[in-house]
Amino acid sequence: MKILILGAGYAGLTAAYKLRKFTDFDISIISKSRIVKENTIFPALLTDDVKIEDTEFDAYKEASKRKINFVEADINGIFPESNEIKTSVGKFDYDILFIALGGAYEENFSKIPGHEFAFMHHTLEGFLGLKNALDKMEDGVRVFVGNSQNSPIEGPSYQVALIAEYLMRKKGIKGEVYLSTQSPKGVFGPIPETWISEAANKYFEKRGIKILKGKSVKEIRKDKVIFSDNTEIYADIKSVLPTLSAPDIVKSANLTDSSNFINVSIPTFKHINFKNIFGLGDSAKSMVPSKTARGAMISAENAVSTLLHEVKGIDLPYYSQGILCMMIGGDDGGILRFDKNNNTTKIILDFGKIYLNAKKLYSRFLVNRAFDVSYHAALSFNYSFK
Ligand SMILES: Cc1cc2nc3c(=O)[nH]c(=O)nc-3n(C[C@H](O)[C@H](O)[C@H](O)COP(=O)(O)OP(=O)(O)OC[C@H]3O[C@@H](n4cnc5c(N)ncnc54)[C@H](O)[C@@H]3O)c2cc1C
Repeated sequence: MKILILGAGYAGLTAAYKLRKFTDFDISIISKSRIVKENTIFPALLTDDVKIEDTEFDAYKEASKRKINFVEADINGIFPESNEIKTSVGKFDYDILFIALGGAYEENFSKIPGHEFAFMHHTLEGFLGLKNALDKMEDGVRVFVGNSQNSPIEGPSYQVALIAEYLMRKKGIKGEVYLSTQSPKGVFGPIPETWISEAANKYFEKRGIKILKGKSVKEIRKDKVIFSDNTEIYADIKSVLPTLSAPDIVKSANLTDSSNFINVSIPTFKHINFKNIFGLGDSAKSMVPSKTARGAMISAENAVSTLLHEVKGIDLPYYSQGILCMMIGGDDGGILRFDKNNNTTKIILDFGKIYLNAKKLYSRFLVNRAFDVSYHAALSFNYSFK
């Protein structure tokens, strides 16, 4: 059986490793670059707590070790009717396709009017640009961090705001840090337990961060940010995360629905219309609105379990995606866990220095294992095949 995996991020690599563990299928991964970055630790670049070389690994080497083909190429077209993929190095065909091409951060950021006046705290280049600007801060500086409407990943914005506040304090610079949250409840507002946002808001406010609740970025100008409700705030340094979606090449293959994500069923992550296509990670619909690395790995676990059941009769557990956000914020950190399945809910909100090291250690672990991690501290999800 010929398996093609598009994208060598958290989701794509997790799918490849798990398939290799249980099968001798012909597995190929196609991705832009053999050098894969563990981007969840990028905020630590702002404080020099991590070096660039500690955030990356060579996925070609890791795949080869496991007898998985790795093709370094740009994917230019997906043709589900003919089971074909067009790339910069030629065409590929498949029996089963896993699409794990991420959330199109760059494409979506470039659609924000005035994006050139802001950084995007997602790519390495975005973080290095932001770091340079924060290094040059002077008294009176106003730093703004936020998300555009329907952005499913606010955790990195929380961390960047905390780090900006820490850097100002460390350098003795007098300035302001503004953090906008899409929810009117503030930090972690979408979590359906009000005490969480109340406690988180208190923590951020104690750190001197001004929370602009219920605001999403509509437009950026040289010296200000304009929100969807047409209010605005002046800022010298602006860092913004866009909304996410499946990349345009996936949308133009008619694999998405009005949500702009791959139209999969839950918890199998199998495409609604194409029975030999799975949509994973940031590219696909998910069990929870947040798009995270852990969620991406869980989507891959569930999708591969589905395929293994169907073609090999192997039954493995399914997992619930939930939210697990470990935060670094300069000289202090925090954690939010909100995991829920049919039987139980696990909630943790805590702040403390311990999470600084915990996050760094987990990131080292992810890099050293090249994302080959089989435990995600996730709850199981009850599911039985009909
Ligand atoms: C700063 C920051 C901090 C974060 N912190 C956390 C955290 O603490 N915990 C957490 O769980 N999540 C965190 N996230 C979210 C997490 O990074 C994403 O959810 C995760 O990267 C999604 O994984 P993925 O496999 O779906 O996509 P990706 O990791 O984006 O992988 C997609 C892959 O596809 C490749 N690709 C895309 N298009 C093409 C193409 N046309 N041709 C060839 N290759 C292509 C890309 O190069 C990439 O290798 C954070 C995100 C940011 C920005």
